[in-house]
Amino acid sequence: MMNAEDFFKKVTAHAKEYGYVFPSSEIYDGMSAVYDYGPYGVELKNNIREYWWHAMVRHNENIVGIDSAIFMHPTIWKASGHVDAFNDPLIDNKDSKKRYRADVLIEDHIAKIEAKIDKEVQKAEKRFGEQFDKKMFLETNPRVVEYRKQMEDISHRMNSMLTDGDLAGVKALIEELEIVCPVSGSRNWTDVRQFNLMFSTKMGSVAGEDGGTIYLRPETAQGIFVNFLNVLKSSRMKVPFGIAQVGKAFRNEIVARQFIFRMREFEQMEMQFFVKPGTELEWYQYWKAERMKWHLSLGISPDKYRFHDHEKLAHYANAAADIEFEFPFGFKELEGIHSRTDFDLGAHQQYSGRKMQYFDPELNESYIPYVIETSIGLDRMFLAILSNAYCEEILEDGSERTVLKIPARIAPVKLAVLPLVKKDGLPEKAREIMDVVKYRYLCQYDEKDAIGRRYRRQDAIGTPYCITVDHQTLTDNTVTLRDRDSMLQERIPAERITEVLSLKL
Ligand code: ATP
Repeated sequence: MMNAEDFFKKVTAHAKEYGYVFPSSEIYDGMSAVYDYGPYGVELKNNIREYWWHAMVRHNENIVGIDSAIFMHPTIWKASGHVDAFNDPLIDNKDSKKRYRADVLIEDHIAKIEAKIDKEVQKAEKRFGEQFDKKMFLETNPRVVEYRKQMEDISHRMNSMLTDGDLAGVKALIEELEIVCPVSGSRNWTDVRQFNLMFSTKMGSVAGEDGGTIYLRPETAQGIFVNFLNVLKSSRMKVPFGIAQVGKAFRNEIVARQFIFRMREFEQMEMQFFVKPGTELEWYQYWKAERMKWHLSLGISPDKYRFHDHEKLAHYANAAADIEFEFPFGFKELEGIHSRTDFDLGAHQQYSGRKMQYFDPELNESYIPYVIETSIGLDRMFLAILSNAYCEEILEDGSERTVLKIPARIAPVKLAVLPLVKKDGLPEKAREIMDVVKYRYLCQYDEKDAIGRRYRRQDAIGTPYCITVDHQTLTDNTVTLRDRDSMLQERIPAERITEVLSLKL
């Protein structure tokens, strides 16, 4: 078994080698926490985006989409609280000069305790074999119970300090837990300070002009809130209804790490669902369940997902949960589902002077709707898919293959068309097929090298199906269809290729 760190390094290297993700500006030595997507990466990203958009906007008649600008009026970020409160607590190690998010250091410490629990479970599993009752063990084993208590205690203390803005307390907690800098190994920490994550720039021709400061949006949600009235009037929507948007967001993250997990420029897929006040917690439960269903519909093992209900709520929320995914570096937030009350629309009503309200014909009165938000990072979802898909296998004949088991319906290339040999009219026949299928799916034609090598190449980029044209094709017009995961082949008539494929996809 490879350890998690080596595994993640392999995923990252594979992503680069096979045209999924490149470090940005690489020929100039790169930019930290900024990445570019290559030829296969952009396809996968488009497919994930489309899969989300369809699930949200097409399948729900009461959800519509928008595409708002990245630049917005600076007062929006006052109203949303981002100017005053979009801060991360940061701390520096004086020896390594490395900067960390104080809360992340503490969370990593908690994750280490959790890893100890996992070790205990593994040991016990070995010891008890078949009879092992994991649930019972987790609840009763004294060591595990003690670890769990420690985790809860630390998390609780950290959250209340962060809520109270007690930065000295956070530093004291880091010292008490004897957390060391992963680089220098020392405990020589600075005080904890607040750091605003918004990028600012100047609008207009005169830099330095007063009031010219604007921000790159740190989330797409505010573009939805400020268009609430426009959408309401133009789309004939009635509460409950939702507005969805996909777009770039920017955060000056202090700690850039874990590849595309935490980026400074990234893409969000957000949906704000407007409901009648008092019904929001029902809708919150509804969207929690719906979003989990969406994830599971891709066919990834349910063990990889879990909910994490927030103990520390943002000042505007009355319920919040994350959908966490088991990345190679542990369970981490992939998506957030938040019940945001009337905070955002209320704040925009106050700052803009416009009535951000809905007239409810049934109640015959106006109110500011409450909001349930679902917010997922497109890049983070990409990483979840990619790291889950990467797999090294030893085949029956002893040879090895690296395969990306990307769910077929979002895989970049759906089909490869391969003539068995480069002669006897097989390439011409394969080209004929290619010219039909390429209008339906992204397909690749490949005639170079032995067929085994070509299969390996398609495995490495995650192509779910390969069609091989051989001599029999010329006599009975059948081809073989090879499945990436099982590597099984079946013979099908060439004219049925798109039909068979559309059933599978
Ligand atoms: P974190 O605690 O990891 O910083 P967050 O709680 O600030 O995340 P939200 O503001 O709720 O995240 O953003 C919603 C989603 O956007 C997250 O679940 C995540 O998928 C994605 N996201 C947030 N920040 C980043 C980032 N820097 N890079 C990539 N994706 C991000």
